[in-house]
Amino acid sequence: MIPTNRLSSSRNSRKPVCSRAVSRRGLIVAGLMLGLLGAGSAGAYGLCPGEMENAGRMQQRILREWPLRSSSDPASRFIQQLGVFLAQYGDEGIPWRFSLVRNLAPNAFSIGAGNVFVTEGAITFAQSESELAAIIAHELGHELAGHFCADSYSRGEGDIFMPPSEHYEVGVGSIRQSIDPAKEQQADRIAVSLLQAAGYDPHAMLQVARRLPAGGEVHLHDPRRIHSLERLLAGYPPAGGLPDSLTFKEVRRVIMGETHQR
Ligand SMILES: [Zn+2]
Repeated sequence: MIPTNRLSSSRNSRKPVCSRAVSRRGLIVAGLMLGLLGAGSAGAYGLCPGEMENAGRMQQRILREWPLRSSSDPASRFIQQLGVFLAQYGDEGIPWRFSLVRNLAPNAFSIGAGNVFVTEGAITFAQSESELAAIIAHELGHELAGHFCADSYSRGEGDIFMPPSEHYEVGVGSIRQSIDPAKEQQADRIAVSLLQAAGYDPHAMLQVARRLPAGGEVHLHDPRRIHSLERLLAGYPPAGGLPDSLTFKEVRRVIMGETHQR
């Protein structure tokens, strides 16, 4: 699972705050231009200063507010494996952890330092394994672009982000998050690269974006995002990619069954 021909092995050469987004994205673009991304990694940069501490505080709030599915549960293990599989095409310098939230709303979000949360509802929302991979890859895009570096987050116990006027705010429980359309599109671009590198259908990112609800908690239907993805994916071959694995089908079947019982 660990790529062998990395573009960089600078795990210990941490970049200053704010440079990670450019650096990481630049490496992914460089990887594509060199034709290496499909076979290797986009580089390693570690975390931004304060990112781990911020993520730790957020993690505590999430654990207080939401029940997580046990990490030993087959569905949780599948999400972890899928996340790590996609992440190997991004950056091995991040301590990735993927958690499954017992919530039926189709959501996924990340809090920095490689912590990604996926709801059970995201599994049932996804109509294929590629779509579930797209949902997770978008969160990896936020992490890889450095959207959780200290310049974007307040350091206090209070809510995260001070949204400029063009942003809109969403919330899950007491946790508020500002959605910046430019960052959403950047995360989508990285996600599309990751999906293609991993063998999933990159068009799944657009399929997911089109089906998102107009009202909800996180990642709403946004025409700007859809137009951006349409332009981006015009350069990709028609739909293809990995078929659904037996594990995905089984996990989805189990979650769907539980959903009907609640
Ligand atoms: Zn997003």
